[in-house]
Parts: sequence; C-alpha cells; structure tokens
Amino acid sequence: MQLPNIKDARKRTKEEVKHIYLDQHYDQDMFKNKKYFLRTYGCQMNVHDGEEIAARLESLGFTPTDTIEDSDVVILNTCAIRENAHDKLYGFLGRCKHEKEKNNKDLIIGICGCMAQEEGVVNDLIKNHPYVDIVFGTHNIHELQDLLINKHSKQNIEVYSCEGNVYENIPYKRESNIKAWVNIQYGCDKFCTYCIVPYTRGKQRSRKSNEIIKEVECLVKNGYKEVTLLGQNVNAYGKDIEDLSFAELLEKVSDTGIERVRFVTSHPWDFTDDMINIIAERDNIMPYIHLPLQSGSTNILKLMGRRYTKEEYLELFKKIKNTIKNCSITTDIIVGFPNETDEDFEETLNVVNECKFDSAFTFIYSPREGTPAAKMEDKIDMKTKEERLAKLNEIVNKYSLEANKKYLNKTVPVLIEGISEKDPNKLFGYTDTMKLVNVIGNKNLIGQIVNVLITDAKSFSLDGEVK
Ligand code: SAM
Ligand code: SF4
Repeated sequence: MQLPNIKDARKRTKEEVKHIYLDQHYDQDMFKNKKYFLRTYGCQMNVHDGEEIAARLESLGFTPTDTIEDSDVVILNTCAIRENAHDKLYGFLGRCKHEKEKNNKDLIIGICGCMAQEEGVVNDLIKNHPYVDIVFGTHNIHELQDLLINKHSKQNIEVYSCEGNVYENIPYKRESNIKAWVNIQYGCDKFCTYCIVPYTRGKQRSRKSNEIIKEVECLVKNGYKEVTLLGQNVNAYGKDIEDLSFAELLEKVSDTGIERVRFVTSHPWDFTDDMINIIAERDNIMPYIHLPLQSGSTNILKLMGRRYTKEEYLELFKKIKNTIKNCSITTDIIVGFPNETDEDFEETLNVVNECKFDSAFTFIYSPREGTPAAKMEDKIDMKTKEERLAKLNEIVNKYSLEANKKYLNKTVPVLIEGISEKDPNKLFGYTDTMKLVNVIGNKNLIGQIVNVLITDAKSFSLDGEVK
C-alpha cells in the first residue's frame, strides 16, 4: 500500500505518465441482485468520476438504490476543497457504521475521491474506522471491480501516492442522454497556494486529442446534443504533451457537428486570443465562460499564486466581452484569504462592480493542510470574513438579477433537458449563455433546442414559454 504524500507533489516528473488503453471484462452476474448506493460531493470532475464508478459497479451486476438501508455496497465519492468536506465524510461514516453494526454486517463500505488522496484521512480511516472496507484514490477508480472481487476481511486500500496514468476506454453510466461531460485533462499544474487539487488529483495530464474527438463523435452518433469539455484548467490543455492547443481542440470538437460545445474551468493566465476568436467564430461553441477571479486585489492574487494582476484580469474580461457577442461570464471568488485587508476586499468589490458578472460562486477561504497558504499567519477573524461574504453575495446577486432581466420579453434558444424539479408541470433547460430556464411546454420537447419567450427573470433562473 502506498500512502499519498503531499510533500512530494511538486517534485513529480511527467515521465511517469503513460497513456493506457483499458481492456477490462467482468462477469455481469457476479453481484446479481445486489444493490449499490453512491453519493458524490464536489465539482463536475467528481460528478463525472461518479458516472465511471456507477458504470463499474453495474459491470459486476449491481443495481442502484437510493438508501443505505437497502444496499449491499455504499460508496462515498468525496471532495476535499473546503473544510466542511470532513464533516460530510464523518457524518456519512456514522450512518454506515450504524447500519453495518445493527442491520447488515456484510455491508461493504467504500470511500473514494479527493479525500481518499489525503494522507491524514487515509491514516485516520486505517486507525479509527476499521469497518470501512475499501478506500481508493482518484487515480485508482479503474481498480474498483478488482477491489470488490478480491475483497478480504482486512481493509483494502488502493491509493497511488503519485499521479496516475491517462486511461482510455473508461466506461461511464452517463446521468443524461442529452448532454455529456468529456474529460480532456486530469490534474492541475498551477499550485495556487490555497488549493488542494494539485495534491489530490496530481499534475496536469492531457488526453490525446484523437481520443477526445473519438469520444465526442461517438456521443454525436448516439444523439447527444451537448458536450462539456472538462478539466481543472481546460485552457492549459496540451501544454504537457505534443498535441493540439486548447483553441485547436475546440475547433476540432466544433467540427464534429455536436450542437453545443461548452468547457470548464478556464484559468485567466492560459486564455489566448486564438481561444477568444474561435469561440466568437463558431455558432456551436457556447458564448459562456467561467473565469475565476478569486480576488480583485493584486496583492492577494500574488499571495494566492494566481499569475495575473487585477488589471490583467480586467483587460482579458473586456477583450472577451468585446469579441464574443452576448458572452456571459461567471466567476469564483474567495474572501478572507490570510490577511486580506479591508482595502483588498474593497478592490474585489470594485472588480465585481466593474464586471457585473452573470453569477459568481463565492467562498470563505478554508485552510487546507499541506498547502502553502495553510502555513500563512492570519489575523482576520471569522466574523469579519462572514460579513465580507454577505456583502459580496448581496452585490453578486444584484448583478445576477440585472443580467437575467436583460432576457425579459426576448426569445432565445433553450436546450430542454427534462422536467423541472420544483414544478412537475414545467420543463427546464439552459440558454446558450448557461441561464437556467423553467419552461411551460410539452414533454416531447425534451432533448430539443427550442425557441423560448422569457416571461420572468429572477436572480438564479428565468421563466419562459415555448414559441
Ligand atoms: N480549477 C478551477 C480554478 O482554478 O478556478 C476550480 C478549482 S476548485 C474545484 C473551485 C473553486 O473552489 C476555486 O475556483 C476556488 O474559488 C474555490 N477554492 C479552492 N480552494 C479553496 C479553499 N482552500 N478555500 C476556499 N475556496 C477554495
Ligand atoms: Fe486549484 Fe488553482 Fe489548479 Fe484551480 S488552477 S485547480 S484553484 S490549483
């Protein structure tokens, strides 16, 4: 067993990465009549990993269930980005332990995802949670079937301490038959000082472009309308291998004829004019960019290791807005980074007031063990941080509403994805600019791009009717 070692993450070399074509076959009757419960926390990357985990479980004959009480195997796919991830893990473990001790001694409990790549967490599971049967890291998902087949009485732990290879022929049980995630790269090389991702997911490893295109072509053939190219830094795609640039990849994906192409997340530092131009030129590349700001203060950006200044961010923002017609831009912002002064925070508000983002995910800084920022002295108390977050959210929500109101009485194309969770009499879908729309319309429109007249606008969604 190798434990993940955070200290070594920066020293790793790319030579270790191999592109491996999986050829795995399993007996689908092996766990026939057995059920699995899968809970996923975190970002789109984790959600997509969840689609792989589900496919791997079903390849052994497991079927899904919604309750722990009804299951033979439970898997928690964890996120490590912020401190509250730990509370979620231990809350979940408490429920599973109770179920195993009281009702189902054969229940298999599995922990995976980013927390399973943290040395401290793995040590704690070994020492204090012996009822957990399997632990597998973000680089070991392809070993899940073997872990279940070869499960023995002791804890079975499979966590690579260095980043994994790039695997092809990965099975997915996709959550939608209309839109699909497509990984274009794994890991991240940026090492922002607050962020755990480069440690839990390893250094950046890009997939080969011909494999990505093959996957998108297959999705088109199977009737998918939209793909979202996925990576921690999609626009750094290709910098670690001799292949296409991200702009060239976007062009090739657009050439497949898929109706909608999206991508997430872009780093401002890696944004090129070629990218902006291809998005502006192609109708099937959506005019929507998630462009994390993190802070509006150049001092804090420097401490965060973000590689751009406030002025460079604003310049890029304007260039995108001026070149891509009706482009919506959303962002991520962290408040309360160690020693963020009132002036630093004011600068963040100034940028928000200037950019008027379509929406923003906002967070209070959460120290992550092993990252450089966690060692920085921090004199700012939590109350101040909470007040800053509340003030920021108020402004962000005001601009979200303003941006949404611009759609009132306009007719826009919406990809209808399903029945609204809030109102079963309505459908829901997204505009090309990624606005959620609740729509009055017939169910047979699901999967189609239809013109919708926008009749109401709220901060987080629009209402409309099919034209
Ligand atoms: N790769 C993307 C990027 O660079 O923007 C997203 C990474 S992360 C999954 C999503 C967001 O979580 C980040 O953009 C950041 O705002 C936030 N985040 C990451 N680490 C954090 C921390 N230690 N405390 C609070 N927020 C954090
Ligand atoms: Fe984390 Fe920074 Fe990489 Fe995003 S770019 S995943 S915030 S290290």
